[in-house]
Amino acid sequence: MKINVSKFSGMCTCGREHEINVKDIIVESGAVNSLLASMKEGSLSSYRSAAIICDENTKAAAKKHMKEIWSMCEEILLPSENLHANNHGVDLVRQKIQGKDVDLILAVGSGTVHDLSRFVAYEMGIPFVSVPTAASVDGFVSTVAAMTWNGMKKTMPAAAPIYVYADSEIFSRAPYRLTASGISDLLGKYIALTDWKIAHEVTGEYICERVCQLEMQALEEVGKCLEGLRGGETEAYEELMYALLLSGLAMQMIGNSRPASCAEHHVSHLWEMEVINDHVDALHGEKVSIGLILNTELYEKISRSIRRGTCKVKPYEGMEHELIKETFGAKGLYEATMEENTPDPMLAVDAGKLEKSLEAIADIIDEMPKKDEMLKLLERGGCIKDVEEIGISKDLIALTLRLSPYVRNRLSFNRMRKMLVYPE
Ligand SMILES: [Zn+2]
Ligand SMILES: [Zn+2]
Repeated sequence: MKINVSKFSGMCTCGREHEINVKDIIVESGAVNSLLASMKEGSLSSYRSAAIICDENTKAAAKKHMKEIWSMCEEILLPSENLHANNHGVDLVRQKIQGKDVDLILAVGSGTVHDLSRFVAYEMGIPFVSVPTAASVDGFVSTVAAMTWNGMKKTMPAAAPIYVYADSEIFSRAPYRLTASGISDLLGKYIALTDWKIAHEVTGEYICERVCQLEMQALEEVGKCLEGLRGGETEAYEELMYALLLSGLAMQMIGNSRPASCAEHHVSHLWEMEVINDHVDALHGEKVSIGLILNTELYEKISRSIRRGTCKVKPYEGMEHELIKETFGAKGLYEATMEENTPDPMLAVDAGKLEKSLEAIADIIDEMPKKDEMLKLLERGGCIKDVEEIGISKDLIALTLRLSPYVRNRLSFNRMRKMLVYPE
């Protein structure tokens, strides 16, 4: 199937004109043959010197389907072991690509290869084409790269791919753990959308209904194909990839990750920064899975308290400087954390308005699947559900939820709860 990207751009009822950077998206069996045709005599034929960025695993998965393309390109092969979207990964790509007169990058891989490719392509001022080898993340068409930069999780300016060729012959054969991670990354949108809607309700932050609907559509698609994914049905894989790309398009329409990333991703980012925990050897979506469950449980608890009339608003006491010093500070990240949180997004929250919005907040929370339903969805998808499965102790849950809002300057309901008392 070919996604008609033009229908996502243009004037919208939200009052903004949405821009889509990607020109074409193809999700089908044999999609790389269309890429080959385009490189030979289509819109990509004007590029003289293309480079493939891949790692050992993604090369093993994709090269046999792309022999001719491979023979036409420089290969920038990265080690699979310990490859992350960070300073080190970027340096590796820079070293290998240096001196080669490359005018087009083909990112052949999953999330990390894409983040590194989009960053380097942007830096070099050349376009890149996405060839996902697993339906593992929703960031393939993102305009920003999610990087760990000098120990801080950062969203760095980067290039969106000009084309996506998602070949189900390739990505449906990825290790299932990667696919499960993609399902979790997508289901995380339940919290991200809830956070966005609550922020809009309380602070009047800009929101786009159409984009919210698009994300909801992606969630529904995926809810329907979980059994098919576990059964290895190609069609289900194409549906999942389609949903992940839709979510990516939603981010392009807004120009940042607001529709697709909030409190659930903050949990993942905090653990990646290793502020209160040792290294977590888990995939992006696996950490998001836990962030989703922890926040769902928390939000539900607060919603119940609102309904009972026991949830009260208290004045904001400002950032927790001492705690931030003890935790982020011990990692040398105090200044960077304070900088990220300037201005403090909580300053947009007015206590009186928050008080008046409590019922509406409970309504928004109650639109989400309940924790038990969420666990069932994850179970059906074969996803990670328990914090200890990724090697994080249950004892760290409370501190994780308290600290994670500080990893990003973005208002989540988890952050807003710093102004709430909600006795059980
Ligand atoms: Zn809009
Ligand atoms: Zn994600």
